[in-house]
Amino acid sequence: MAWSLLIRNGTVLDGSGAPGEGNDVAVEGDRIADVAPGLAGAAARVIDASGLMVAPGFIDIHSHSDLFYHACPSAESKVRQGVTTEVVGMCSFSPAPVGPGRAELVKAWAGGIGSRLPIAWESFGQYLEHLRRLGPSVNIVQFVGQGALRLATVGPDNRPPTAAEHAAMERYLAEALEAGAFGFSTGLVYPPSLYAFTEELIALARSMARRGGLYFSHIRGEAAMLEDAIAEAIRIGEEGGVPVQIAHIKAAGRENWGRMERALRLVDEARARGVEVTADVYPYTAGSTKMDNLMPSWMHDGGIPRLLGRLADSEARRRAMEECLVDGERWLTLSGATGWDEIVIATCSRPEIEGMSLAALARQSGKPPAEAMFDLILSERASVSMVLFSQSEDNVAKALGHPHVMVGSDSLGLSAGPGPHPGKPHPRMYGTFPRVLGRYCREQRLFSWETAVHKMTGMPAAKLRFKDRGLVRKGFAADLTLFDPATVRDEATYPDPHRHPTGIPYVVVNGQVVVDGPRFNAVPAGRVLTPA
Ligand SMILES: [Zn+2]
Repeated sequence: MAWSLLIRNGTVLDGSGAPGEGNDVAVEGDRIADVAPGLAGAAARVIDASGLMVAPGFIDIHSHSDLFYHACPSAESKVRQGVTTEVVGMCSFSPAPVGPGRAELVKAWAGGIGSRLPIAWESFGQYLEHLRRLGPSVNIVQFVGQGALRLATVGPDNRPPTAAEHAAMERYLAEALEAGAFGFSTGLVYPPSLYAFTEELIALARSMARRGGLYFSHIRGEAAMLEDAIAEAIRIGEEGGVPVQIAHIKAAGRENWGRMERALRLVDEARARGVEVTADVYPYTAGSTKMDNLMPSWMHDGGIPRLLGRLADSEARRRAMEECLVDGERWLTLSGATGWDEIVIATCSRPEIEGMSLAALARQSGKPPAEAMFDLILSERASVSMVLFSQSEDNVAKALGHPHVMVGSDSLGLSAGPGPHPGKPHPRMYGTFPRVLGRYCREQRLFSWETAVHKMTGMPAAKLRFKDRGLVRKGFAADLTLFDPATVRDEATYPDPHRHPTGIPYVVVNGQVVVDGPRFNAVPAGRVLTPA
């Protein structure tokens, strides 16, 4: 029998955290056929992996690519990093379900994140079918966003659901799980997710516990209320009877940097009493989100048209400034107090100001920074994203090094090449995984190669209850990433983000070689995965 692919002479890190071993890996079709030293047999293709490490394909445990697959099914900026599976539907956002007559509402909601969703579905199952027809080059694990559940039922309003609306949310969630969702996510700083009280979320969690659903949480605050917000997420899991993932764990705003240790201790304590809590982190001190997230939550009540109305109203602006302006020079939000020079415009309709800080924009326009910000969000109709420098390098390393924290890019976009994707998006879109390998593993020796790879493969695979992915094992799916430990590194930077990494010469998705040396084969090798 001839194998379809034989990878010879590499050091196999199997993803479990076990020490690397010199082994060959044989692939037949979409499966790993054998893992052993000196495999001798005919193969249609042989890759010499001398000097390379052979790892399971990386699993991005937290991504927003579902808002961009229709524009970029190749997911090139992601697969070039070694990622073969993405977990999407995060932070309360997902393209489905869409309630009857609510398509425009969902389009506007996704539009605020720069996505033009061609909504031609209502149910979660119809949406997954659409995803399959797109033919993505990466495997997709789709969660349902609790914001989408609320939009489909309550709508964009700031109020508790009626009993009938809550029952409808649980029905939508059950349908999504039935169709292939892995669980639900919250984004408790984003409307309308943030309008949910804890009890509403516990009830939702309880309704999916029996089906094995997972709860992934962008928590209610990552600054002054960090510990309370983590405690809330843990409580939802504990009382709802479901495993919890704390998304992109961070302590935002310098006055809160000291909270990170306590936050990680809460995770440890919950685990010690038997709650399955884990977390993920991206390897950067800046975050990125929509700029209208800087507005206090009352301004969002009623959706984007109402937000724009308030931004045009001088009385509402005055009230926002009274609440948010600290010492006249920093802006206080759920992400902590941030200086105007630490808030950078990422993507908007005016290329000449992309990459510019709000401090610089204010100087240029001769307006106070807050007014310049209001004007920008208003003129862009809330479709403007930002990069926000709010975290400490120490804390990034502390989180990355924690034994129950894995790697998630939180990236807001995909690109099929260095050219066309607009603006100055966060470099994590291109650099997350190679940055962990190059900077934190090779240069800073924060952990071994085996541990680094485990955090990107075996650990997220266990969280997702994968039975046959995330490890280099005979019979497992042939998702493989080959990297050079001497050279692997991220190349994307804040001023120059559209750069693919170096040192990742081969990426195999379900047995198909998608990254093949300098060539990128945009084949539909990915699958929409469903829970085991
Ligand atoms: Zn988030």
